[in-house]
Amino acid sequence: MTDRPRFHIIHGTPAPQTEAEKVRERVRKAPKPRTMPQCHRCGGREYVETKIGIGKTATKQRVCFLCAMKGERVIM
Ligand SMILES: [Zn+2]
Repeated sequence: MTDRPRFHIIHGTPAPQTEAEKVRERVRKAPKPRTMPQCHRCGGREYVETKIGIGKTATKQRVCFLCAMKGERVIM
């Protein structure tokens, strides 16, 4: 065990204003058409539909494709 803390508390510091963060912010604030789902994490609109089960009992979920590529499962 080390004494180094694993988590640090920050006091409301905004995300660093990098170019990438500016783009993310712009995409998040872009108007959202109701018919077009958007990922709440990356702002992407591309999704894949996953299915558990078969027929009428199947559960479908829309998972962000961009996040899925990064190994994260974000439901849209
Ligand atoms: Zn995403």
